[in-house]
Order: sequence, then C-alpha cells, then structure tokens
Amino acid sequence: MLAVDVGGTKLAAGVVDPDGRVVSYDRVATPADVDAEGLWRTLEALLGKLTAGVGALAGVGVGCGGPMTWPAAEVSPINIPAWRGFPLRERLRAAYPGLPVRVHNDAVCVAVGEHWRGAGRGRADVLGMVVSTGVGGGLISGGRLVDGASGNAGHIGHVVVDPDGPPCGCGGYGCLEAVARGPGLAAWAQEQGWRTGLPATGVELADDARRGHPVAVAAMRRAGRALGVAIASATHLCDLEVVAIGGGLSQAGALLFDPLEEALRRHARMEFARRVSVVPAALGQTAGLVGAAALVYEGGRYWSAG
Ligand SMILES: [Zn+2]
Repeated sequence: MLAVDVGGTKLAAGVVDPDGRVVSYDRVATPADVDAEGLWRTLEALLGKLTAGVGALAGVGVGCGGPMTWPAAEVSPINIPAWRGFPLRERLRAAYPGLPVRVHNDAVCVAVGEHWRGAGRGRADVLGMVVSTGVGGGLISGGRLVDGASGNAGHIGHVVVDPDGPPCGCGGYGCLEAVARGPGLAAWAQEQGWRTGLPATGVELADDARRGHPVAVAAMRRAGRALGVAIASATHLCDLEVVAIGGGLSQAGALLFDPLEEALRRHARMEFARRVSVVPAALGQTAGLVGAAALVYEGGRYWSAG
C-alpha cells in the first residue's frame, strides 16, 4: 500500500506492508511559496520516487490535514493555504488508475493506526489523539471507525473544557484545542514570564518543563488538566477502554500525563468510566501512514464510504 501523510510542515509517504510495517519511507518539507499545482507536483515527485521499483501496489491511503469534504476529499488544510477545495482524491485516482484511493483526516489516520497496530490494538472502544500544533482525534467504537454524518466525528479538540476560556481557531471559546495546543500553551507561558519576547514552541516548552522550569511545568499542568477533563467527558459519552495520545506535547511524559490522570480521576466517577486507561501512542511518527494504509487494507473496519 502506498500511504501518504499531507501536513503543513511536511509531506511524508511510505510503502506499508499488510502487517502494518513501513518498508520504505521518504519525506519533503511542504513548500510554502507554491500554487496548488506546484504543491501537487511536489507530492507527485515524492510518490514517484518512492514507488519506483516497487511491484504492484494494492491501493493508496492518505491522511491529510482538515477540513475536507468527505469522502470526496476536496481538501482545504488550515496550514496549507495553496490548497483550497483541492480535489486530492480525484487527482490521486487519475494518477493511480484502477487502484482504490481513500483519504481521511490526518488525526483520524493516527487513531486508526494506533487501533490497528499500536496502543489500542485488540480493543473495541478507543480514542486516538494527537496533541501538537492542534488537537485532533479519531474514534473507534465497537471495533470500527466512527465517521459521523459528514466524516468529522472524533473532533475531541473542540470539546469545551472551559466555557469562559480562551477563543479558539474554530470561532468558539474554551475548546480543548484553545487551551492545550502547543502554540496556545507557549503563548500562555510567555504571559507568565517564560521566554518573554523570544520565539517559542510547545516542544521547547515541554523540554523546559523536563528541566524543571516552573512556568513550563505549570503549562504542562494546564494542558494535562484540560486533556483529563475532555477525556472524562468523552469516556462517559463513548464508554472508552483506551485513550492513546501522540503528538509533540505527549513527549513531556509524566509532566503532562500525571495532571491529566488527576483531572480524569476527579471527573470520571461512574464505575464504567473509571476503567479507562490513558496511554502514550505506540507508533510515533509513522502512526498516520500506518493508519492511512489501514483505510484500504482493513476497509471493513475503517472505511464506511464508497
Ligand atoms: Zn474550537
């Protein structure tokens, strides 16, 4: 399977075998100063290089930043201004005639990857999450991916954790993403005196938290608490067994997961909800590619559309 991950900072692709192993891999930085066709040509070149010398492909699976229409996958990734309503699925079908081509939200692909071959393997009710520049997710219920009416189920990042909280990129207030996304957290920490006036990212914040910087530690607490509140709500709603968390911020380890666990235990009180376990994602950087491949390899569980 040819698996593709289209993101704001990089275009990545791999050939994934039926066991979910990434047997070859390549990536390029997402070019910034190009138009829609220029970006497409960059992707085409990456895929051409990767598949040269590979035998027959079984299909093409793609994770792409949202939003998009689904399943047609006319994509308008927030972090890729060159593509607005770009017909990604149609173009890939034309490039790989006769092969199944399936495109889903990139965070959904991470969740699918973690369910198929990662931390949620063998479980029926799993929430997979990515906490980095944004907060995204995908929901597995009864062993199947839940798409929702428009393919947008699993948007845990816009579950409200504080109705009076900061404004969110979606237009709302106090969403989990508004509180816990890396840049939002870094901005909050700067207001408290961390690296004032310097450029700063969520990953640097996580690094400084590990070194014991008190404001950075407080920022991880803030994110962990918001994540715990959102996960408690999701667990009550969906009767989850496992929540797997990946993305840059999850690398803060116990500094994030301890306050998360504390908030979760405070808010998840019903007997069934207390059983949920929250774990770090197992597949790391390749989870999205493994999940994108599973959209085709395991279509019975992970692809409900045509
Ligand atoms: Zn929001």
